[in-house]
Amino acid sequence: MSQTYDVIIIGAGAAGLMCAIEAGKRGRRVWLIDHMAKIAEKIRISGGGRCNFTNLHAQPQYYLSQNPHFCKSALKQYTPQDFIARVRHHGIAFHEKKLGQLFCDGSSKQIIDMLLTEAREAGVKLETATRVHEITAIAGGYQVKTNQGEQTCRSLVIATGGLSIPKIGATNFGYETAKKFGLNVIRPRAGLVPLTFGGTLLERCKALSGLSVEAEVRYGKQVFAEGLLFTHRGLSGPSILQISSYWQEGGALIIDLAPGIDVFMHCKEKKRSQPKQHVNNRLTEILPKRLALSICDDQACDGPLGSLSDQKLANLARAINEWQVWPTGTEGYRTAEVTVGGVDTRALSSQTMEAKQCPGLFFIGEVVDVTGHLGGFNFQWAWSSGHVAGQAV
Ligand code: FAD
Repeated sequence: MSQTYDVIIIGAGAAGLMCAIEAGKRGRRVWLIDHMAKIAEKIRISGGGRCNFTNLHAQPQYYLSQNPHFCKSALKQYTPQDFIARVRHHGIAFHEKKLGQLFCDGSSKQIIDMLLTEAREAGVKLETATRVHEITAIAGGYQVKTNQGEQTCRSLVIATGGLSIPKIGATNFGYETAKKFGLNVIRPRAGLVPLTFGGTLLERCKALSGLSVEAEVRYGKQVFAEGLLFTHRGLSGPSILQISSYWQEGGALIIDLAPGIDVFMHCKEKKRSQPKQHVNNRLTEILPKRLALSICDDQACDGPLGSLSDQKLANLARAINEWQVWPTGTEGYRTAEVTVGGVDTRALSSQTMEAKQCPGLFFIGEVVDVTGHLGGFNFQWAWSSGHVAGQAV
């Protein structure tokens, strides 16, 4: 039976656009649809408006998934260097900010324009404000009923992303579609998200709101040494966002607020050499003043170093080098950068992203249970998974 399109792609974000371009370049008739009037909004707001579009070190160890091997094939088939070549070809200037993170010198709009130009050149039919009412498996493909009419295709690609930032278009459509076709979904949860606290710790966070320090945050075997920010709701900053993707409810984090400094040994040595120095003054040489005062206050540690017992100094040092905190939760999808979990990779081919039990049905991008660390890894997954599906549809 002949279908109206070779490929229908639902979701015109990073992964959907990449897949559409590649399929179009292969001569496929592609219908790319999105329910929002404005597409690629996540690209627009990403990286503080400069889009951290990839990471030079995008390797499988920087991704979370129930199957950590799943992302290998796609990341190998379409690498950060491949995307960089594309960006260069379009004359988009970029720079490495830190840790292999590549950002546009100008604006993230340049990446959107690049993708839209390529999609147009590849003959992709892009339609916005298009709502899907129903998907049905038919002989040799799928039928998609929308508010813009009914179309059929041989290959159907679900690229509707995760649940973060609902106000710019996130829905659970991808997960519901997966379930409808019998695919398992790993419970989605907010990732790369600020953590919230209660009680006196929340009061301390509020009082310190806006203050940031370099910190080492540990949860189980995971350690991230980056900035930490106190907020009105709790803790944020890159180190907290990173650990949030691993954190499970009820778990404690161990935070070193002065990495590389053994605060106990430091204070003990000063107690011997400068016993009259006030403990507050000593700590403000290690930590920002507001934070130092807050910790001394919390530990009821006051007076000249010489007047403080070693036990008192040890407790103080522990509150700095091994600060143990129990988050009460996360800020949730309202502010999360990604969704951890998603379509179970065991149901998909790692080479093509096609559902093993449903020929012609593909899942790409964030809707799949593959979540990158902060720093360009998530877009690289969107490009790589979109690219391999685009070669297979
Ligand atoms: P999306 O880009 O989310 O695209 C999904 C598309 O599907 C959307 O256009 C949506 O409107 C559409 N859609 C949803 N439901 C339906 C439906 N029912 N019917 C039709 N269409 C639907 N990652 C990085 O690597 N670097 C960064 O700098 C970065 N910064 C970020 C900043 C913020 C604030 C956020 C929220 C995320 C950031 N990310 C970043 C993560 C990155 O944006 C996502 O991982 C990536 O966009 C996922 O691509 P995707 O195509 O799978 O999904």
